[in-house]
Amino acid sequence: MRSKDLSLYIHIPFCVRKCAYCDFLSFSAEDSLKERYIDRLCKEILNEAARYKDRYVISVFFGGGTPSVLRAEQTGRIMELIGSSFNISANAEISIEVNPKTADKEKFEIYKRAGINRISIGCQSLNDKELEVLGRIHRQEDFYRTFQAARDAGFDNINVDMMSALPGQTAADYESSLKKLLCLKPEHISAYSLIIEEGTPFFERYQEDALIRDKGGRPRYLPDEDEERRMLYLGRDILKDAGYHQYEISNYALTGYECRHNKVYWQRGDYAGFGLGASSCVDECRWKNTEDPDEYLSAGADELKQDIQKLDITQQCSEAMFLGLRLMRGVDEAEFAGRYGIEPSCLYREWIDRMMSERLMESADGRLTLTQRGQDLANYVWGGFV
Ligand code: SF4
Repeated sequence: MRSKDLSLYIHIPFCVRKCAYCDFLSFSAEDSLKERYIDRLCKEILNEAARYKDRYVISVFFGGGTPSVLRAEQTGRIMELIGSSFNISANAEISIEVNPKTADKEKFEIYKRAGINRISIGCQSLNDKELEVLGRIHRQEDFYRTFQAARDAGFDNINVDMMSALPGQTAADYESSLKKLLCLKPEHISAYSLIIEEGTPFFERYQEDALIRDKGGRPRYLPDEDEERRMLYLGRDILKDAGYHQYEISNYALTGYECRHNKVYWQRGDYAGFGLGASSCVDECRWKNTEDPDEYLSAGADELKQDIQKLDITQQCSEAMFLGLRLMRGVDEAEFAGRYGIEPSCLYREWIDRMMSERLMESADGRLTLTQRGQDLANYVWGGFV
């Protein structure tokens, strides 16, 4: 990564309706609010772009929420502004998150003309019962239609998000979803376990142990830890056998299709976020935009940023470890030393020795990586670097 590289994140907080497990900054909104939001977002982008005249944008990511709930022309307007305000590298990766039922071939064609070259579809499951429990607005047929529409519009770089450890899901159910997905040969698959976040409808229901009841009226809860692990291993094996390589704890790609934008986060590249609640980290300075929609719409140019924090060297090193260890390539000790002035095995000698002796980390070819067991207990390993 060159020092002048920059990635852009554009937050579109709108969704058709809130999913039962979601704690992202997202909500449903009238068209008039969406229009006002885009006006404000464009002002923010235009205003901030001046700071980055010497930068080359290597990736742009429209995330949310559901960016595809915007009309294609609205997305086109934002893309046009980005293209005219930043130096976009010729081979920049430009992704947009799409949910089934919110995009058709025509919309994808407009995306393509606007310069978007990667589609990320939130599928989560190819089992209608699971989709219903998750509170998703789509069913498997909707996903198939959306995926095909993206292909028909010429997209040859598609990610699909899948989830495991869903209420009532067995390892066999998960396997069936993954195998159906593999028939479509997406270039990239993100495979996450469901996490029950406080404040979501799922959390409330789970608290009452009443998420699903079987025919006998007995509650069936989330898969237990063993079953969850079985799903993770099974998923890993199925995807590897199908030719996908795991390059991050939850991410798999065909050769040449690793997500460049997400790698910028894991490798601590610079990124500037725009929109409600968007985070940025540039030149070791981190900040976050307000999460209050009214404040976002009315704030002056300099009033959006909150929690501005200059990262000291200790924070930089700590982030480099726990983010770098997410990647299968791990942390390159020489690169780390070149960037932060000290080798990780000196800085974290005690913890790394302990992790090695517990067979959670290993070292080979000058790289520190998590072992298989380390991936299973990643939060514990990362804890020692924070
Ligand atoms: S579509 Fe995504 S962002 Fe929107 S509510 Fe569902 S999980 Fe949340």
